[in-house]
Amino acid sequence: MTERTTPPNPEVWVFGDHRDYFKNRVTLELLAHGRSLAEALDTRCAVAVLGHRIETYIMEYIAHGAQAVYAMTAPHLAHFKVTTYARALVEMVRIYRPSVLLIGGTDFGMEFAPRVAKQLETGLSADCVELRVDPTNGALVQTAPAFGGRLLVDVITPDRRPQMATVRPGIFQERPHDPEATAPVFYVDPVPLEENDPLEVLEVEPLQEEECSLEEAQVVVSGGRGMGSDQGFSLLHRLARLLGGEVGGTRPAVIQGWIPKERMIGQTGRAVRPKVLLTFGTSGALQYTAAIRRTEFIIAVDRDPDAPIFRTADLGVVGDALDILPRLIRALEARKGTKEVSDAESARG
Ligand SMILES: Cc1cc2nc3c(=O)[nH]c(=O)nc-3n(C[C@H](O)[C@H](O)[C@H](O)COP(=O)(O)OP(=O)(O)OC[C@H]3O[C@@H](n4cnc5c(N)ncnc54)[C@H](O)[C@@H]3O)c2cc1C
Repeated sequence: MTERTTPPNPEVWVFGDHRDYFKNRVTLELLAHGRSLAEALDTRCAVAVLGHRIETYIMEYIAHGAQAVYAMTAPHLAHFKVTTYARALVEMVRIYRPSVLLIGGTDFGMEFAPRVAKQLETGLSADCVELRVDPTNGALVQTAPAFGGRLLVDVITPDRRPQMATVRPGIFQERPHDPEATAPVFYVDPVPLEENDPLEVLEVEPLQEEECSLEEAQVVVSGGRGMGSDQGFSLLHRLARLLGGEVGGTRPAVIQGWIPKERMIGQTGRAVRPKVLLTFGTSGALQYTAAIRRTEFIIAVDRDPDAPIFRTADLGVVGDALDILPRLIRALEARKGTKEVSDAESARG
């Protein structure tokens, strides 16, 4: 360790998941929200980062709002190996004792966070959709789905520290990049490479996923089981193209094969926060609405007037999506002076 200072109060920490940095923004999103938690706790928000040759990421985290960075660097930390990384982060936490530790709910984070929590003998709330500080006692209130996702519950960690939570990408919004920002960086002595670790990283190959920018889209057109078929979904694609938006959908739509799983919106899919979301034939299950609630304006179409989606929507239309969509597309195409939507109507069968 090259330097050590005592922070004002136990800090809020965010784990620096810098894999695929330009696409994987969850650390920056947590950092932005961590700043507001830190303010409420009269402390600072820091990033704890591990790796090899990570100076660029350290600078990026500072530019995006980190008020301190704790870094452990060594060649054997070059790969995100869950066993070594867990030991390394636990070591850093034991030295600096943050009050809060937030980890991105990525594939890696979901494997990593429980190991860290177990070694620190503290609690962990997975897939939180909101995090706030209780002003009466300074506890971190972790709002997360429970009972198979049927309820949102507030969890607190009264006795153990740090208070740990994972949050999926897209829930919070990153701060703008400020190249002038400065913050102290503390280098922690690296943990040694473990002997006889059964896990060895031989090669890292990026997953070939369909290009999908649902999280960043300004307009999202989404569909559920009520769309009924592939042809129903082709109407959604048509509408999305006219509006310059992206198409997403619910879990049943993925299960039916109407959209790829990368486009699933929800607690176990992606969180979106467009300016406008148009949602068709989606009943409004909590697992779905939890991931759309940061949308500025939601328009829902469902044929059931009692569908819960109308409680989330800003504008609700009771009707048959397969009647409404072709008419909407036709009106938009007419406005744009484009051709008739004959194939859209044919989806009605
Ligand atoms: C642990 C867990 C995690 C989950 N994670 C997710 C998740 O991430 N994302 C997700 O989406 N789900 C998730 N689910 C599933 C979730 O609980 C719901 O089952 C799902 O969201 C319902 O999808 P839906 O609205 O498309 O279907 P339904 O609930 O079946 O609703 C279909 C709607 O379409 C309407 N409809 C039918 N025909 C028409 C028509 N022609 N025109 C207009 N409206 C019509 C119906 O009135 C109904 O309201 C999860 C469940 C569990 C247990």
